[in-house]
Amino acid sequence: MFRLTIVYDNKASKDFTGSWGFAAFIETNFETLLFDTGWDGQLLLENMKKLNIDSSGIRRLIVSHQHWDHIGGLPEILQANPGIKVYVPASFSENLKKEIRKRATLIEIRESVEISPGIRSTGELGDKIKEQALVLNTGNGCYVLTGCAHPGLAAILDSASRYGEIKGLLGGLHDSEEFERLKEMDLIAAGHCTAHREKIKELFPEKFVEIEVGLCLDLE
Ligand SMILES: [Zn+2]
Ligand SMILES: [Zn+2]
Repeated sequence: MFRLTIVYDNKASKDFTGSWGFAAFIETNFETLLFDTGWDGQLLLENMKKLNIDSSGIRRLIVSHQHWDHIGGLPEILQANPGIKVYVPASFSENLKKEIRKRATLIEIRESVEISPGIRSTGELGDKIKEQALVLNTGNGCYVLTGCAHPGLAAILDSASRYGEIKGLLGGLHDSEEFERLKEMDLIAAGHCTAHREKIKELFPEKFVEIEVGLCLDLE
């Protein structure tokens, strides 16, 4: 089982502050991980504190792509977690990789690789904007977690489906219109930059979940 908590998003449930960007906290039986960091590190830490999440116990940080609204909280997270492992697409700027290496262990992602038991990167996907997504395999199926989904849902889901049946999709879906790819899924949790949120909700009302800060999902 994986527990996923949204700790940064454009939208927020009451008691939290929304801000453009995305970050999700993942708890497994083995460790805790963070996927993306939003853009305001202080706000990210505040949101985690309110959610009773120990922001200094994060073992691994996976950064989906090099956009300001996903990397902004890097300094705060690295400062709070000496020894953290940071997984970035290999195409990240050399200077940014250099800075991360000064404060953490940097792992450059090219091909798909297992990051933690049951958690795998799709590898670096896309042409213009390179991005990695995560595949969470619960043993009953896979859930795909995306930052902005710039490479397009088809590329991401094709890569992820090599590792098992896709039960759900979570994260920012940008302007993807590949709605037929969502049909077979049990869960569609869309947030952040999703342009066609209303359309997806209308097409799949029974499996749609609105992403906002504070949302917590147990993936089984
Ligand atoms: Zn982006
Ligand atoms: Zn974004």
